[in-house]
Amino acid sequence: MINTGSTITETVMKTRCGEIRVEDLVSRFLDRIQKEDSTINSFISVLTDDALKRAKQLDSLPGYSRKEMPLFGIPIAIKDNICTAGIKTTCASKMLDSFIPPYNASVVDMLQNAGAVIIGKTNMDEFAMGSSTETSRFGITRNPKDKERIPGGSSGGSAAAVSANLVPAALGSDTGGSIRQPCSHCGVTGLKPTYGRVSRYGLIAFASSLDQIGPIATDVRDIGLLLETISQEDKHDSTCAGKQFINNPDIYNKDIRGMKIGLPEEYFGEGLSDQVRNSLMELVKKLDEAGAKTVSITLPNVQYAIAAYYIICTAEASSNLARYDGVKYGYRAPECDSLIDMYTETRSRGFGDEVKRRIMLGTYVLSSGYYDAYYLKAAKIRTLIADDFKNAFKECDVILSPVAPTAAFKLGEKTDDPLKMYLTDIYTVSANLTGIPGISIPCKTSDLPIGAQFMAPSWKEDTLLKAAFAAQTLSES
Ligand code: GLN
Repeated sequence: MINTGSTITETVMKTRCGEIRVEDLVSRFLDRIQKEDSTINSFISVLTDDALKRAKQLDSLPGYSRKEMPLFGIPIAIKDNICTAGIKTTCASKMLDSFIPPYNASVVDMLQNAGAVIIGKTNMDEFAMGSSTETSRFGITRNPKDKERIPGGSSGGSAAAVSANLVPAALGSDTGGSIRQPCSHCGVTGLKPTYGRVSRYGLIAFASSLDQIGPIATDVRDIGLLLETISQEDKHDSTCAGKQFINNPDIYNKDIRGMKIGLPEEYFGEGLSDQVRNSLMELVKKLDEAGAKTVSITLPNVQYAIAAYYIICTAEASSNLARYDGVKYGYRAPECDSLIDMYTETRSRGFGDEVKRRIMLGTYVLSSGYYDAYYLKAAKIRTLIADDFKNAFKECDVILSPVAPTAAFKLGEKTDDPLKMYLTDIYTVSANLTGIPGISIPCKTSDLPIGAQFMAPSWKEDTLLKAAFAAQTLSES
């Protein structure tokens, strides 16, 4: 972190005792955003005035209030599909480009109650549909590690902002890999929690049975700290289980002797680039040397995961996005002759191509003649994949896999071929289909960043973070 050379966990100790003033900390990050973001474009909105005002308020708090705030003074960026009261929340879409929510998402309230300072709203693929942050109404985001390449997506703005040190942490959302994949491409760390761990209240829905909000930072410990805050119980979301993650310091002890790490055969076969395979194999070697035990496992049905995911997510998206009709809120096409005309024009002009493609696909797979052939079949495959993971976790504590088949690709390389873009999600979608948690950590930082993914059984974020922390320590050595 700027001039503190430390993690959030360490910086909070300094802000709490007044060694670092929150206003100074926030100003330094605002300066960096102003200097660096013109070429990266990771932010849609920068909340300079609000953030400074809030920083001053925090600086005036007495010590005993600060103790209650685990994120005291920490600037955080929020993906622009997470509602912020009184602050534009656009989903990077024309449909919502002047939408100002009247309420905060629960996670935003939780962060603020913990003392965090919301510094801006980050760029993303429109409605979180994409893997490259190239479909935003507000322009593409560039990868800070190589500006001719994509940062990944859809939470590309959040991952790029953390990677460029424009902010120490950010929130993203992950429906099929949108936190983990951009983190892998930008060389930072990101977690998709267990489905139901974090409240989705105020997250603009893409595919409700898959969506989860999660933290992005540069250190596994910081991920645990953020998760503890955002996983509080929330009565506003009936799928929020109310199982708060407890950030126990014992998780971060590096001792992984005896831990069983499963390597799925299917994830190291055809389609994986040598560059990614070699980086992962280096990590496997280090884990072995540290006393972990790697075992080969098999997930026979993950070969159908991409197909099942793109049927289920489009089906849910077509239903969730039906609400954008120009009547209640959001964009409305002007000068239409009739109600039907207004609906048609609003949706034709308000949504971009990828969003329309998904709505059409989703409507198709749910239509009466095709429901059994597509949606129902995909739902059954989802169960088979969940069974595969359950069986695999009888043999191992965590699974290690690639996050994406290659390092970040060039801007524009896959925009004309949606299928190619969809295939890049091959290693991430299964965690969403089955609800299990997954984390991406940088396992190689020279040249282009490459991430490693760990997955664990549902609710086992402690085991997941333990493995990830050990791997982070080994990768740095
Ligand atoms: N790339 C995937 C998709 O386009 C995942 C998106 C996400 O996780 N929000 O559907």
